[in-house]
Amino acid sequence: MSGQDLILLAASEIIIADGAMGTMLQAHGMTAGVCPELWNVEHADAVGSVYAAYIAAGSRMIGTNTFGGNRIKLDAYGLSDRVAELNHAGVALARAAAGPDNFVAASIGPTGKFLEPLGDMTFEEAEDVFEEQARAQVDAGADVIIMETFSDLPEIKAALKGALKTGMPCFCTMAFDTGGRTMMGIDPVTAALELTDHGASGVGANCGLGPDGMLDIVAKMREITCGIVIAQPNAGLPEIVNGQTVYNSSAEEMAAYAIRFAQMGINIIGGCCGTTPEHIRAIAKAVRM
Ligand SMILES: [Zn+2]
Repeated sequence: MSGQDLILLAASEIIIADGAMGTMLQAHGMTAGVCPELWNVEHADAVGSVYAAYIAAGSRMIGTNTFGGNRIKLDAYGLSDRVAELNHAGVALARAAAGPDNFVAASIGPTGKFLEPLGDMTFEEAEDVFEEQARAQVDAGADVIIMETFSDLPEIKAALKGALKTGMPCFCTMAFDTGGRTMMGIDPVTAALELTDHGASGVGANCGLGPDGMLDIVAKMREITCGIVIAQPNAGLPEIVNGQTVYNSSAEEMAAYAIRFAQMGINIIGGCCGTTPEHIRAIAKAVRM
């Protein structure tokens, strides 16, 4: 199987993606302030077991534990010289869990820095940072690269341009907030049009406000593109309870929304923060019925 196989398959059936990685690793004991990507080498068994749990729950496409694996984010942990190693390890573990019949989507998240003119990073610098990450992911056997949780259009375009240099198909999802726009004010139609125009094989939304808030966003994307549309919402709205962030949507509730996503023609359905293999199992079952 390859990224092209995934794109062909998504045209004829709904692909179940996975749920959260970060909140799952926290359940395995990862504490705040730890570099999640370092777990790909120091706690490989835990990362591998999360991937395996999603495959067992019915995921056909698993995202890798490489979301913050760009050199700028890793620099905050003094790990900027380990981009290749940490991305390679994260993708290789996913490849082992997915086997030849399921798909590995190599995750790329934002740098956390602003591009010019708001910040001091140029588009070319950002593109170079993302290309370095994508090359390591492709070398390790990814099928597709997925840009996730971006809110700035120029930054995700830089990521897309850098990642496309590897020759790998790329999906782009952004996090939409209150008012149906990203934190940087981007609306879903503009995002879908521009990213498709710049070579994305799929567009969509992830994280954000939970499944209810995502319905309208991906519906708008579905209307204006005939390509792949992806929905990976959080398990409801995050709430702080006793100093902990909790997500309240049950597996059944997420499954009910998954049916609505499926009915509107969304091609890839999964979850983001707070979703677990239990949520994915319920979603897979509901969508297959
Ligand atoms: Zn999320």
